[in-house]
Amino acid sequence: MAATWKARLGSIRAHLVVLVLSSVLGFAVLWVQGQYALNALEESAHQMGEGKDIVADILPPPLYLIESHLLAYQMLDAPVAQRSAIASQLNTLKQRYQERNALWFGHREHLDVSVALSLMGTQKQAADAYWDYVDREFVPAALEGRDADAKNAFASLNKLYQAHRTGVDATVKLAATWADARMEELHQTKQRTLLVLSLVASLCVAVALCLFVLVGRRIANMLGAEPAQLHREIVKLTPLEALASPGHGSVLHALRAAQERLQLQVAETERTNRELQATLHELNHMVGTDLLTGLWSRRRLEDALASEVERHQRYGQPLSLMFVDIDHFKAVNDQFGHPVGDQVLVALAAQIQLAQRAVDSIARWGGEEFVVVCPNTNLETATALAQRLRERIAKHEIPPVGRITLSVGVAEYQAPETWREWLQRADAALLAAKGQGRDRVWVAP
Ligand code: GH3
Ligand code: MG
Ligand code: MG
Repeated sequence: MAATWKARLGSIRAHLVVLVLSSVLGFAVLWVQGQYALNALEESAHQMGEGKDIVADILPPPLYLIESHLLAYQMLDAPVAQRSAIASQLNTLKQRYQERNALWFGHREHLDVSVALSLMGTQKQAADAYWDYVDREFVPAALEGRDADAKNAFASLNKLYQAHRTGVDATVKLAATWADARMEELHQTKQRTLLVLSLVASLCVAVALCLFVLVGRRIANMLGAEPAQLHREIVKLTPLEALASPGHGSVLHALRAAQERLQLQVAETERTNRELQATLHELNHMVGTDLLTGLWSRRRLEDALASEVERHQRYGQPLSLMFVDIDHFKAVNDQFGHPVGDQVLVALAAQIQLAQRAVDSIARWGGEEFVVVCPNTNLETATALAQRLRERIAKHEIPPVGRITLSVGVAEYQAPETWREWLQRADAALLAAKGQGRDRVWVAP
């Protein structure tokens, strides 16, 4: 029993260990995944921040170029005297443009390859071509007042400007595509993180639920029953009248009621047992007692003879018996009737009891035959006792019959004979007494 409890507790402990381990593992995975997700977000945010800076760096050069182109246009309309000032402004813008280009050139390793190529390549080429043409054709013509040449140069410059704008647009598109790709990556990271988090959380919940059910079952088994079954047992244990009383559903209450009923049943059983014992005693008495005379029955005599023989074999003390039979008893019945014959038997039994010693056992063997067992008595003493009995009866008046006589056969036990053989020898002696004329004692050889 203790071993089973130990085993059950052991398995519960194992379940709890699994629960704790799986929870720790689950949370470790969640933590690692969380860290990974945070790092990815941080990196993406960082990249976006850099992207913003880069865009801020990329935008000025085209703006400078737009400004320059406006200035070039103004230069065409301006009087020749003012044109050199505008030319110097154009030169300043060119320098600024080149400085900005150099700045984002420093960022190129952070950029997408195609974006970087576009910035470094097409756009720069277009800008360089523009500035080259400004320096080489447009500004000299404008400063020298060759307006027709300047206008033609401006038309060509306008084409270079448009080419530069187209390159800028393409670069912006590339940059937008690149940013979209980064956003998509970020989105996928978020989705993947969410999926892993959900899976791990679901797994943890499932494991916890399974273990909860298992542990619950184990505990129910340890209690010996499922709660519903336990309740049914309680109802069975509780007597009907107690079900109405408060607290009838508790195990303690049911057990107390069952204990009270058991106590009642035990008391009842004890009473029945006592009655049975009394009946048994009575039955034994009846079996061991002759109903007419109150002497021992033949059955009880047989038991006594067997135990006396056993005692003799153990202690070796002399042991004798007398076999007594009423002479001509049939005639008594015939003359006075059977009930009177019974009275004679009862009177004779009383007389034999009076005549014999307390240690002697007296039994009615059957009909009008009696056996007296005399322990610790040799043949001589037993014969004397038999004579005394015979004489006493012969003198005793039994109304209305008068006097009766007895014939007695006496035998001392002779080892190793059985009690039956011993009794047969006494019976044979009795027969001899009858044969010798009755009213006498005969000793078995
Ligand atoms: P004997 O001297 O040879 O012993 O003659 P007897 O008539 O006594 O011998 P027997 O055994 O032939 O007869 C015994 C008689 O005892 C027969 C029966 O009527 C009578 N008897 C046996 N049992 C009872 C009994 O319980 N009550 C009465 N009234 N008579 C009984
Ligand atoms: Mg007889
Ligand atoms: Mg007789």
